[in-house]
Amino acid sequence: MTLKVSKSEDCLIFYGLTPELTKFKDLYNSISEFMKIKQANDPSDRFNLILFLPDGPNYLDHFAFDTNLVLSMLKSVEKNISRASIAGGVFVATTFIIEVYKKISEKIFRLLIIVDDGAYAIPSQYLPALEELINKVKDMPFFIDVIYIGQPDYEERNRLNKLVNLTKGEFYEISSIDELDPLLMELSYKKKIIQPAFSKQEIRRIPEENQMFYINLADEPERVTDISTCSICFQQGNEGLIRCPSCQTVAHEVCWAQWAQTSHIGIPHVYRCHNCFNILKLDKNYINDVQAGKIPTIAELNKMKKKDIVDYLREIEAQSTPQVIQTEDPFASDVRAMIETKKEEPESSKKKSKKKKR
Ligand SMILES: [Zn+2]
Ligand SMILES: [Zn+2]
Repeated sequence: MTLKVSKSEDCLIFYGLTPELTKFKDLYNSISEFMKIKQANDPSDRFNLILFLPDGPNYLDHFAFDTNLVLSMLKSVEKNISRASIAGGVFVATTFIIEVYKKISEKIFRLLIIVDDGAYAIPSQYLPALEELINKVKDMPFFIDVIYIGQPDYEERNRLNKLVNLTKGEFYEISSIDELDPLLMELSYKKKIIQPAFSKQEIRRIPEENQMFYINLADEPERVTDISTCSICFQQGNEGLIRCPSCQTVAHEVCWAQWAQTSHIGIPHVYRCHNCFNILKLDKNYINDVQAGKIPTIAELNKMKKKDIVDYLREIEAQSTPQVIQTEDPFASDVRAMIETKKEEPESSKKKSKKKKR
């Protein structure tokens, strides 16, 4: 059995543009066009948006196939968009992507950050924490692209470049919004450029130093004691059965240990449930023994078909429309304190409230 490797992408757009500096309408049209082109290239691409409102970062709780849904969220908050904190946005966005990765497979995750000079810069003291987080998740695979409209100072450019380089993403600096559309057009095809790194048929090994993060992310299957049917070998019984805590699918531990051989995430004993794609873990030595043939198996793995990930995700979206989540910016107070001492407000709040209509 071979695993289908799809290069489908889940793209989270970080809208970090300052209302006083960049016209909403320009961005709205660019983002709309970007999503349309991407989805025309690959209908299995999904999108999400993260932006700052006065109450902090907001985003949809699911990536969506439906780009109109993403656009209507953007439109509905137009008047309230606030200055973004880059550090807080990257942190919340990355944490969200980790949660999605835990539940689904076969995706490339892209965080596309579009910011201007008005966004709160990354406080130097938070750079190590962000680097550490991104270092762990770059194996997902996950990458960050940054489009900076304006001119970051030397330090901010270095900080952003560091984050981007960790994931082998790209950093673009453009001087005006007019350069955005051609750049987004280029980025909408980017997947093809990076394909060689991510499209290998064999499963990428997660480096030893990052394994603990993924092991902790995985759920432990629950023991099943009542009589049930194994979803892999279809035998009935009440011995050696375990259950996926996310979708309640039951299988023999030994059957799943065999299944893990082709569906692990880059660590041999950490694998995905064949029914819901959730990450599960089994005992490392047990998996080794089963895969080395030391433990007899009941499995007839060929009987089993893995669900198609895209069908599965469309099903989920049809069942429940993604909702907007409002969260806290973990760095908010420090970022503001830092900015206030520097007195770098681009415009006073008085001016903002009397802003002329465009
Ligand atoms: Zn079985
Ligand atoms: Zn499951």
